[in-house]
Amino acid sequence: MKIAVLSRNPRLYSTRRLVEAGEQRGHEMVVIDTLRAYMNIASHKPQIHYRGKRLEGFDAVIPRIGASITFYGCAVLRQFEMMGVCPLNESVAIARSRDKLRALQLLSRRGIGLPVTGFAHSPDDIPDLIQMVNGAPLVIKVLEGTQGMGVVLCETEKAAESVIEAFMGLKQDIMVQEYIKEAGGADIRCFVVGDKVIASMKRQAKPGEFRSNLHRGGTASLIKITPEERMTAIRAAKVMGLNVAGVDILRSNHGPLVMEVNSSPGLEGIEQTTGKDVAGMIIQYLEKNGGPNLTRTKGKG
Ligand code: ADP
Ligand code: MG
Repeated sequence: MKIAVLSRNPRLYSTRRLVEAGEQRGHEMVVIDTLRAYMNIASHKPQIHYRGKRLEGFDAVIPRIGASITFYGCAVLRQFEMMGVCPLNESVAIARSRDKLRALQLLSRRGIGLPVTGFAHSPDDIPDLIQMVNGAPLVIKVLEGTQGMGVVLCETEKAAESVIEAFMGLKQDIMVQEYIKEAGGADIRCFVVGDKVIASMKRQAKPGEFRSNLHRGGTASLIKITPEERMTAIRAAKVMGLNVAGVDILRSNHGPLVMEVNSSPGLEGIEQTTGKDVAGMIIQYLEKNGGPNLTRTKGKG
């Protein structure tokens, strides 16, 4: 197959590994800088141009779209979909997962366990919003944050009120969430490919920190997940419409709670922790399930 990897930087670990795994399996791998792909929308035949040439002959596309370029990246991916190229994850599914609130609404509709979460617009509703998530301590999250940035733990209701007011004043959309204390600063990353969890790891926040993100100094270790956690992760990815996803789960007193579903999960932490060839499994998934004109939404909706 001829496979495009949409990525801003060919030197990133995940990009390098996908190229390496694809080439090892006999595919032609081409890294395309997402922001340098430009499109002819008006033409009856959708086209993508890149560095002065028209892109042609691709069978599949692996999107690695960073959170800061979701809008443009999804537009490029949608254009590939309209050209009949098979995406590893569809543009619509990526857009859904990038908005934390939209993602939680979709997951809740299907009865997947989630931390109690509230969302409001008016400062007048802040006191009730705080009560809705069972008071302090609580977590406040910027809707499109990533790598732990924009996630704040408020120990008291007074602190929560001021922080929420500040975000609202800045016109920054946030959600308010019950703090799962018993998780003890740890969460579980389940790496889903197709309908399987192919690798999982526990991430533990550094002392004095509640965010377990590896970018925030968290450490990863091997973990055996329960059948319930496995089912939850697979269902969450399916609800979002993602073929490949990093599903983050908190272990609470009342079972696994999905915190977020990542559509471009990093490969470095999970491959190094588990010793598994995750990149190879992603390529295998495309070999088995890829094909022309398979995008269900074709970028619609
Ligand atoms: P990001 O997209 O920035 O990674 P997350 O929602 O994943 O945002 O939150 C970052 C980290 O903060 C999580 O990995 C988890 O360790 C911690 N965390 C987030 N929400 C909660 C919560 N409701 N209860 C306990 N810990 C949380
Ligand atoms: Mg996260």
